[in-house]
Amino acid sequence: MALDEAQPHRGTDAASDADEVAGAQLLRRTRLLLWLTLLPLLVLVLVLAAWQMHGQWRRALEGATTDTLTQSYAFEATARDAVHHVADLQRWMQQEFLRGDSQPSPAIRDALQARHTRAGKPDGYTLDGLPELLRSGMAQLMWPGRTPPPADVLARAQTMSSVIEIAHQRNPNFAWSYFFGWPDRYLSVYPWVPSGAMIEDQGASDLVDAANSWYEYELIKRAKLEVNPASQAYWTAPYIDAGGKGLLVTRAAPVVVAEQLRGVVGTDIRLDTLEALLARLPGGPWQAWVVDRNGHVLADRQRPVAAPDVEMPSPASAASAAPGTPPPVPMLAQRLPAGLNAQVLLRSSTLNGQAIASGDLRVIAIDLVEAPWTIVLAAPGSELLQSILPQVLPYTVIMLSLLGVWLAGAALLRQRVVTPLVQVFSYLQKLSADAAAPEPRLSPRWQPWVRVVTRTFASMRSATRGERRAEALKSALIDHAQAAVVVTDENGRIVEFNPGAEAMLRCARQDALGQSVSELVMPERFRAAFERALQRMRQGDVDDLMGRRLQRVVRRADGTELPVDVVMWMAQVDGAVYFTASLTDLTEARAQAEMIERQRDALRQSEKLTAMGSLLAGVAHELNNPLAIVMGRASLLEEKTEGTPLHADAQRIREAAERCGRIVRTFLNMARSRPAQRSAVRLNDLARAAADMLGYTLRTHGIDIELRLAAELPEVQADGDQVGQVVLNLIVNAQQALATHEGPRRITLRSGQSDDGNAVWLSVSDSGPGVPDAVRGQIFEPFFTTKAEGMGTGLGLSVSRAIVREHGGELLLEEAVPGSGASFHLRLPLQVVDDTPAVPAGAAPAVAAPPSQARVLVVDDEPEIAELLRTVLEDQGMDVATADSGAVALEMLGEARFDAIVSDLRMPDMDGAGLWRAVRERDPALARRMIFVTGDTLSPGASQFLEETGCGHLDKPFARADLLHVLAHALRADAAVPATPP
Ligand code: ADP
Repeated sequence: MALDEAQPHRGTDAASDADEVAGAQLLRRTRLLLWLTLLPLLVLVLVLAAWQMHGQWRRALEGATTDTLTQSYAFEATARDAVHHVADLQRWMQQEFLRGDSQPSPAIRDALQARHTRAGKPDGYTLDGLPELLRSGMAQLMWPGRTPPPADVLARAQTMSSVIEIAHQRNPNFAWSYFFGWPDRYLSVYPWVPSGAMIEDQGASDLVDAANSWYEYELIKRAKLEVNPASQAYWTAPYIDAGGKGLLVTRAAPVVVAEQLRGVVGTDIRLDTLEALLARLPGGPWQAWVVDRNGHVLADRQRPVAAPDVEMPSPASAASAAPGTPPPVPMLAQRLPAGLNAQVLLRSSTLNGQAIASGDLRVIAIDLVEAPWTIVLAAPGSELLQSILPQVLPYTVIMLSLLGVWLAGAALLRQRVVTPLVQVFSYLQKLSADAAAPEPRLSPRWQPWVRVVTRTFASMRSATRGERRAEALKSALIDHAQAAVVVTDENGRIVEFNPGAEAMLRCARQDALGQSVSELVMPERFRAAFERALQRMRQGDVDDLMGRRLQRVVRRADGTELPVDVVMWMAQVDGAVYFTASLTDLTEARAQAEMIERQRDALRQSEKLTAMGSLLAGVAHELNNPLAIVMGRASLLEEKTEGTPLHADAQRIREAAERCGRIVRTFLNMARSRPAQRSAVRLNDLARAAADMLGYTLRTHGIDIELRLAAELPEVQADGDQVGQVVLNLIVNAQQALATHEGPRRITLRSGQSDDGNAVWLSVSDSGPGVPDAVRGQIFEPFFTTKAEGMGTGLGLSVSRAIVREHGGELLLEEAVPGSGASFHLRLPLQVVDDTPAVPAGAAPAVAAPPSQARVLVVDDEPEIAELLRTVLEDQGMDVATADSGAVALEMLGEARFDAIVSDLRMPDMDGAGLWRAVRERDPALARRMIFVTGDTLSPGASQFLEETGCGHLDKPFARADLLHVLAHALRADAAVPATPP
């Protein structure tokens, strides 16, 4: 795993694009959020504004209603004054008529004078003569006709005047108060006015004419009993004042006495009075009128009814107008705005002043109680709205300021917080993908945050690097561990499976992951126990399982089983429990342990052999001397009995003794290890020797041994003992293979020369079971054996092959032939480059016999041997002297001359080596012609001595021929020393 923390930069551009999009999105979202929070605020502001507007609107309407209602009392008061005044007048006049005897004051009586027209014709009586002083407290009397009025008329005019004067003083709105008489037609009118002016104003020619026109007035007509049977007081329609006081309305009441109409009292109110009252009503957008029930406009605040532009019918025409003639005042339709008609007024007036809507107009109509008049207020909605706007303005300003503050706050928030935040976040994002992302340039207030992000990422990265390194090292450990490592979760499901586990359990990682470890790895018979152990481990009862080496058997994916060493441990990661098992394959270790055990056995065996070898060596050594005597004597006997029947017996004795010698020598060779000593050996001889040695054992096992050796075989340079041992081994193996074999039991030894003539070979075949194919490759391994304990060491073939190879040859197991047993093939080269000193072969008849006239000194502490040697040598015609010790020999050497010395190597006193050194001192040439007879050539000291001196030697027991051969060789070796005849 790479330790490098750098991530692949592929896709970084795309990522940064995505980051920018995310940043833009965040900004958009924030904007949206701000607007979303603004929306309720806006709605709130609008609702508040609407609420304010509505309140102000309502208050404006209610205020108008309240003001109008309040002011309507002024109208009521004016009308009520008139109503009460007329009622008083009515009552007063009725009482005056009933009293009947009242007299006018003399002043009044004196003031009465006849009136004349311009033409000088009398037309009636008036109070035009009333002194100036009395005029303010007295009414004018206008009595048409030639006769003067009776006194009671005057008296009533006078008393009435006092009543009226008080009322007029109290209420300056009253224009005239008067009394029209009936059936006598006359008029008393207050305040006093000259009759001429009045008649003139009326446009009449004289008083009679004027009086006639008066009695056409509506107010007179409505007093008549047939029209007004209950004699109710009433209000007239507006009309033009005959006395020149403009437009008036009159409150009038009939004066009925004893069910007779005696006249009409009345008082006039000028319409401009009403207009003055209208001025007090709510202004602004409001227009105001007073209308009567007949649709006349009595007062108009905007355009006074009595204004000069109003077409005023003349009083005369008004007076003469027939009932139903249009009155001298405008009608509703002329003055009130469109849509404001009688029905609307009717509807509105029932609501006690509450404003109603009529089209764009808001209308307030209040009916007066004291007069049949209605106060009307109307305002166009738009103007009304305009009028209340100033009141709403402060709220609007406050709300707009609030909104402004909010917007400014939002903008500030965006500029100071959101945008830097987005930049910090986007930096954070970029930094997560790219460690070298540039720091954003932000205001100093935000720099610490940027630094925090940079530092955090740097330390995180370094921590991650460390973690990754540790992880990489750990997984390298696990991945390359020799041991199989299996990690499971607490339910035994495999979560990690290293290459070691793959190899050991022969299961691929991806196949193992997720599987139950119990099913995958445990042999069927152990699963229940394993599940129980897992259960315990889950419960934390792990002391005896964790961290210990447990030996278990596991199953591979292919079903084979193997012994393993298991060490388990537990790890907790984020609260989850994991079990890890490290498995080591014990197969090899066990095999090795077994091998060591076998080696130990083999060692023991070998020690035993060595011990036995030493014993045998001792025995063999002891046998050598007698055997040497037997062999020597037998060959002498054989020679002596040549041509006699005893000759064959002597020969048999000699042969048997030689065979004994070979056996003893083989034993000695086997028992002792010594360096290879090459000499010319005949493979056939070695084969025969081995067959001889084992002949007895083979026969006891019912095994035939057959020798099919090549007739002529060249000698090879080899260590005869070692090669002999190889042949012995091969025969012993064959014998063991046949021991329990049913069927023919035969061992065949064959020999021959290779086709190229460079080597000789020997094969050892048997008729046994052969070597199974499975172990063919292993049988040459040291300590490999298939034999029962105590039977095999597993060393035989390996040692044999080592020996053969040391000789430059080869030992092979031949290809198996079906039906036949094993066959081992031994091959030795004829030419071998080797510096091992060659020693004369034990039997070398090719070498000529020693010169018969040689003088030989035989030195041996065994008299029998010495005697034998002397006899053999003397038989050859040599001159032989014997000495039983080295010292004696030296003495004799001083006395006589010898050509050669045959000496035992081991002797008490002076041994062979000591003798040789002494001889060399005196006669080095003779020292070279010394032969040593030894029973123990293989002892290291003896071997070394012989090697250093280069002297010939003979091993006991020796054949006669050997002795002569070695001696001849020694005598010839030193050519410089002439063989001196005795
Ligand atoms: P040992 O004889 O002590 O087992 P060896 O090295 O001589 O050791 O032999 C090794 C193995 O070779 C023997 O255990 C045996 O299985 C096999 N082997 C040797 N010779 C023969 C044979 N002639 N026939 C069958 N198997 C043989």
